[in-house]
Amino acid sequence: MKNQLVDNFGRSIEYVRLSVTDQCDLRCFYCMPKGFKDFETPEHWLTFDEIERVIRAFGELGTRRVRLTGGEPLVRKQLPELAERLSALPGIEDLSLSTNAVRLAKHAQALKTGGVSRINVSLDTLKPERFKEITSGKLEKVIDGLMAAKAAGLSPIKINMVVMKGVNDDEVEDMVEFCIEHGFTLRFIETMPVGDTGRNASDQYVDLQTVKARLQQRFDLVPGVMPGGGPARYCQVAGTDVKIGFITPISQHFCETCNRVRLSVDGTLYMCLGQEHNFELRPLLRAGISDEELKDAIRHAITLKPHKHEFKEKPDQVIRFMSMTGG
Ligand code: SAM
Ligand code: SF4
Repeated sequence: MKNQLVDNFGRSIEYVRLSVTDQCDLRCFYCMPKGFKDFETPEHWLTFDEIERVIRAFGELGTRRVRLTGGEPLVRKQLPELAERLSALPGIEDLSLSTNAVRLAKHAQALKTGGVSRINVSLDTLKPERFKEITSGKLEKVIDGLMAAKAAGLSPIKINMVVMKGVNDDEVEDMVEFCIEHGFTLRFIETMPVGDTGRNASDQYVDLQTVKARLQQRFDLVPGVMPGGGPARYCQVAGTDVKIGFITPISQHFCETCNRVRLSVDGTLYMCLGQEHNFELRPLLRAGISDEELKDAIRHAITLKPHKHEFKEKPDQVIRFMSMTGG
């Protein structure tokens, strides 16, 4: 089916990032404040039926790709069941998951069976003590989760590392070696000023161009591409299958090719990670709108998509945390 979702700037929207919860079992300091508990009330969470209905509508409008995210998506009960329902929808060809992997060892096989093909795992350090400082969690669970995902045949497995000055920037080479050893794709991410947490962490911002230059001294990096690679610019480590992506929202933004919107757990469509433009679907869903009206509402929402984020120009703009929108 032809994609019917084209925004006012001619960008085709064919990808939904679906936040199934704003809760998380970690507290990465750049994402969620320690002790934070002000979560969306369960009555406001879209139910699995409501989520399925919205994603079906997107599928009928031409969306091909859905990513389960959060907060930590595996905190939402019965996530593999939701995966199974979404991957069976007409038009949805690619269902993926972003996770911190803390609970992945238990669920990897069920997710794979449920139609999740590939996963992204947040991992900022390979040092247990440092992992605890950054996330308040246990590294060993994440490593177990990663190995279970590999054993379950989830592929590719991409590691997302937010590179921060004086926090973990001394580990970029070690992370490349780790990914070569396990056949994982590695993506470095620049810290974004999303919420107070992200803004505070901006002091540790590292321009990834400098990381790339440093890696080139040790590894032979050849320019490469990654199918479905999104905003990351990829290189390949010569002589290996390992790809390294650089996600550079600050130093080189990629808004002109943005193809996505985000649906939060309370049924709000956010048009941009770095702007407040949004459209609330939950009140309409609960007022009993028809499927056609739902599709009209989604078409209208897409016209609200702003031209670009303004992380550099207006770093104080986005109040909500990354975990609320669905990162
Ligand atoms: N809990 C899952 C996880 O950690 O992968 C999914 C949600 S998390 C919000 C998605 C991604 O957002 C993670 O890779 C995380 O590192 C990234 N993230 C969160 N806050 C960020 C910030 N201020 N700047 C850059 N990336 C951030
Ligand atoms: Fe949780 Fe992911 Fe945010 Fe870390 S980045 S606090 S794992 S939602």
